[in-house]
Order: sequence, then C-alpha cells, then structure tokens
Amino acid sequence: MIGVKIPGELFGKIAAHAERTYPEECCGVMLGREAGGERVVQELVEIDNRQDTNRRRRFLITPQQYRDAEGQAAEKNLDLLGFYHSHPDHPAAPSAFDTEHALPWFTYVIVSVAHGHASNTTAWVLEEDRGRFAALPLAIPARDTPVPMQDRTLNADR
Ligand SMILES: [Zn+2]
Repeated sequence: MIGVKIPGELFGKIAAHAERTYPEECCGVMLGREAGGERVVQELVEIDNRQDTNRRRRFLITPQQYRDAEGQAAEKNLDLLGFYHSHPDHPAAPSAFDTEHALPWFTYVIVSVAHGHASNTTAWVLEEDRGRFAALPLAIPARDTPVPMQDRTLNADR
C-alpha cells in the first residue's frame, strides 16, 4: 500500500486554507512525486470551490480546473498526486458524494474543521473496483531539526 507524506509547512497551508474558508469547504491540488511506494507532496495549488448548491458539504473540481492542475504539474515537472478538501464540522471521512466523484489512482486528503479549527486529517485512494475508498497511511513530518550552531560555524569555515 502506498503512503502519503505532506511536509509540516505544506500541511500548515492546507490547514490555513481550510480555516479561512470555514464554514465552507476548501479544495486544492497536491503536486509532488511518487517514489518507493510513497507519495510526497511538494507543492499545493488552491482552487476555487465551484459547487454552488451546497458549498458547506461538497466540493467539485471542474474539468477546466483539472486540466489547469495537470498543466501546472507538467510545468513544474511534478506529478498531479491528488486533491485535498475540508469537511467543516464533519468527520474526516469521504462522503457518498466524494466517492461518486472520485477518480482512480489519485490521493484524496480530507481535513476536518471543527468549530473553525483544522483537526483530524486523513488520506484516501479509490479501490481498484471504484466502489469505495481505502484509507492510506499519512505522515506529516515537522520541519527538519535546525543544524546546531556549532556545526554551522564549522561548515562556514570550509
Ligand atoms: Zn468531502
């Protein structure tokens, strides 16, 4: 099974986007690379939520937005890994609507926003038969530990 890694600082942007659009859903594109069974997110692209009828509960990416996302991935020489969206005051699990509108292969990250604060976050992929989502292991590593001052001085002398 593949794993998904979102560096802490990028995850911070997803959380901020989700909190900013609360109580409506936010959505965005995740660009990055898959290597050794791990999908590492390297860039995010926020996209407008075009679902007019019920913006609190559903996100929808238009074919044009999808093509734009593929174009941006190609431009940056990255893969379009998938999409993130928020569930305002709702658990971080795919809805029936999410399942119906999901595409195979892509990673779907869902962040629950409880009372305006980003909380639980999960990652999903549609199973081969397209019937339902399977949960993926999600890692959100913090920024690398800074190099100690002493080592920095040594490096500067070289
Ligand atoms: Zn959803």
